Parts: sequence; structure tokens; C-alpha cells
Amino acid sequence: MTRIHQLSPRLSNQIAAGEVVERPSSVVKELLENSLDAGAKRVDIDVEQGGVKLIRIRDDGQGIVKDDLALALSRHATSKIIELDDLEAVGTLGFRGEALASISSVSRLTLSSRHVESDQGWQVSVEGQEMTATVKPAAHNVGTTLEVRDLFFNTPARRKFLRKEKTEFGHLEEVVKRIALSRFDIGISLKHNQRIIHNFRPATTEQEQARRVTSVCGPNFIQNAVTVNVEVGELKLWGWVGLPTFSRSQADLQYFFVNGRVIRDKLVAHAIRQAYRDVLYHGRHPAFVLYLELDPATVDVNVHPTKHEVRFRDSRMVHDFLFRSLHRALAEVTPDMQKPTAS
Ligand code: ADP
Ligand code: MG
Repeated sequence: MTRIHQLSPRLSNQIAAGEVVERPSSVVKELLENSLDAGAKRVDIDVEQGGVKLIRIRDDGQGIVKDDLALALSRHATSKIIELDDLEAVGTLGFRGEALASISSVSRLTLSSRHVESDQGWQVSVEGQEMTATVKPAAHNVGTTLEVRDLFFNTPARRKFLRKEKTEFGHLEEVVKRIALSRFDIGISLKHNQRIIHNFRPATTEQEQARRVTSVCGPNFIQNAVTVNVEVGELKLWGWVGLPTFSRSQADLQYFFVNGRVIRDKLVAHAIRQAYRDVLYHGRHPAFVLYLELDPATVDVNVHPTKHEVRFRDSRMVHDFLFRSLHRALAEVTPDMQKPTAS
């Protein structure tokens, strides 16, 4: 009989990685979110072979102090929350303190950083089953670079699930697009195998924002969309919804953000579907880029490790607000649409 024993840090991190690190795009999502949480204004992403060989993300955020570098790679270590109450209205994209530990257990990861108050940069990497950290000096501007090489090199079962380079890169690019739409103020570049794929410059004016939406959603979307801008009490909804005539055969142009976080939510999907119900043919999908802003204390993001799901405290109210706002916006451009019925 096998006796009970403690798993090594690497093994327990690898097990945890199963939840959040599915493929290269999940790494990019976690690293980009970290850069945004660090207050970065510019992020440069460099990937090779769909991200399987290399993902390098450099930001100009506040950086990490030398003494915290080893901690940044260890599990359940975060600078973003201190106590349970902080989760009530968490303002950062991350808070679980698991991403870097997970990613570093299934890849060759180095983290280089220079804190804004430091005159020198440092680099950390971990080794072995104990994931022992080594910290050494490294040239770096203020900010942080994460380099992730050979994803899943030590977890063959996971590696087997990776798809063709093109497919993996497609997923990864999609993550970058979502983040680009979630933060117009951030400059983001994406290179694949040395080729520049995207270079989003900070977009402040409406025109610049529309341009960014166009480079993500294609040249026809904005011309075939109505803008939405509704505020009722603590709820605000803005963005673009595609005309019924611009419907798609797939749900591939649907972006919904809750307080800057990309989410996929049944309730939200239902409200949108209802709003389009009378004007879309069966089997067609609307296109939209929508931003819902509400008091962070009224939405729980700690539902799933990837944080793609949320729970609204007053889901009925959110649903009705979305339905009514979208239905009204669509009715203005689709005059024969019926009056809102009970949702
Ligand atoms: P979480 O984001 O949930 O805190 P992570 O494992 O993603 O957990 O990151 C651990 C910690 O490392 C963060 O709390 C943050 O303090 C630090 N960190 C990670 N990436 C960056 C970055 N790009 N810039 C500054 N600090 C970072
Ligand atoms: Mg994080």
C-alpha cells in the first residue's frame, strides 16, 4: 500500500496548471492580465511557433522588487489581495496568485523585472521538483518581461492536445484582440515568428477607438453597427451592436466586457439573444462589442479559475437592463421591430 505523502511543489503546481493553462493562449491571457494589473501602458508580445516554442511579453508597468521575485513564481502568492473582504470588490484582473507558479511548472520560464524605484533589474527562474528559485542581476528597463519557452515540455499528456501552429496562434491572437478591445488606452504589439501581426497604438479619441475596433472586427463591422450608450443608476452599457443585416453564421464577433474583463455568461447571452429575437433569422448570430460597467461589489468574478464566468448579485436587473438597452437601440434602426415584451 502506498503511504500518504506530500506532493512536490512542482507536481502540485502542474496539477493546478491543468485548470488554467490549457494552451499557449491561456499563458498569454494570464501574462497580459498581469501586465495590465501592473499599470503597463505598453505591452509587446513576441511568440514563436504558435506560442509553443516561445512566448515573450514585455511591459512598462511598475515592475517587481528583487525580494519579491521568487515569491511571484510561487503558488498562492499575490500582491493583489490581502483578506477575503478584498475579493468583494476586486479591482485587478488577477488575485489567485497561481498563474506564474502554474506556468513555470509546465514550461521553462524566466521573469526579468526592474521595479520603478530600483536602479537595477533582476531575473528569476525556478528549477527541479522543489522549484528552487535563482535570482541574478539582469539588464532591464522599468517594467517586466516574462519569457515562457517550450510549453508542456514536461507534461506530454497536455502537449498531445496542442493543435497545429496555425490553430494555436489563432487562439492566442484572439486573446490579444480581446485584451486590445478591453483597454483602448494600452499600446499592444503582437509578433509571430518575427512578423508583426498587430500593432495597436493607444486609442483615446472616438475615431481611434473605432479604428481599433475595425482592426479587430474587420472593416465592415462599424459601418454596420449602431452605437449604444445607456446609463441607468449604477449600470452603464456602451459599445457597438451589429445591425440584424450584419448577422453571422457563427458567433465569432461577440465581445462582452464586464468592468474591463472579458466574459462569457449565459445570462448576458440570453439577454442579447432576446433583444435580437424578432430581427434575426434562426441560426444567425449577432455581432457586438459591448461594455457593461457596474459597481464591482455587485458582481462576483471568483466563480471559475479562468474568471470567464461571473455572477451578478441582481441578475434579473442586469438581464432586463441589457435587454431593454439593446432592444431600444435596435428598434431605432429596425422600425418594424416589436415593442419590448416581457423578457
Ligand atoms: P495574481 O495575478 O493572481 O496575483 P500571478 O501568479 O499571475 O498571480 O502573479 C503573481 C504576482 O507577481 C502578482 O500578484 C504580481 O505582484 C506579480 N507580477 C506578475 N506579473 C507581473 C508584471 N508583469 N508586472 C509586475 N508584477 C507582476
Ligand atoms: Mg495573474
